[in-house]
Amino acid sequence: MAAVKHGVMGGTFDPVHIGHMKLAEHAQQELGLDDVLWITAGDPWRKGDRNITPARHRLAMVQLAIEVYPSWRASTAEIDRPGPTYTVDTLRELHARQDGDNFTLIVGQDALEDLPNWHEPTRLLELADLAVAVRGGRRLPPEELDSLVPGLSGRVTWLSMPPVPFSATQVRSLASSGAPLSGFVPKSVEAYIREHQLYRAG
Ligand code: ATP
Repeated sequence: MAAVKHGVMGGTFDPVHIGHMKLAEHAQQELGLDDVLWITAGDPWRKGDRNITPARHRLAMVQLAIEVYPSWRASTAEIDRPGPTYTVDTLRELHARQDGDNFTLIVGQDALEDLPNWHEPTRLLELADLAVAVRGGRRLPPEELDSLVPGLSGRVTWLSMPPVPFSATQVRSLASSGAPLSGFVPKSVEAYIREHQLYRAG
């Protein structure tokens, strides 16, 4: 029997937005992933320099955004685990529970280039492949990938996703000025942001 192929979509999701949704859609289609697990970061140690919205709100928005996709699931693994969020620990847990399955970490290029700063990047590459969307830059050639983390080029699949040229930072900025968020986040997420008055200035 062929191994089950899981996509792992990790992020701060502050808030989840259309760029994240397109990224997961493309990865699932292009790699034939059986499902996509959305893992909201609990304590995103790589973003320690700004105030992060409480995890319960970020998770609730992910749940709203993905509820119409039957093969997508939200995970609380990183919220439930105390201490800093390390992707490698999450992958260890997933392998322990689903031994023999394949896991593909779905990331944007900024995350790929940050990989050397992640916890145990070499171990991470033993536990997962990577599906990567170009995000305002260019596809890195194999030798540049391998200079980030040895062996990385053999683990990366570049996605042919058209760029989605915004980030959660811009969504927060729009929300703080009360501007409409249509086209940036799903309608249900926009309604949640308004109802809970997230990202309001002052
Ligand atoms: P922020 O602006 O707050 O830094 P972000 O929009 O980059 O946030 P994250 O939650 O940090 O969102 O990202 C989770 C993952 O989604 C990362 O791998 C990131 O590269 C990817 N990603 C985010 N926005 C896009 C986008 N517009 N296109 C492709 N990938 C994206």
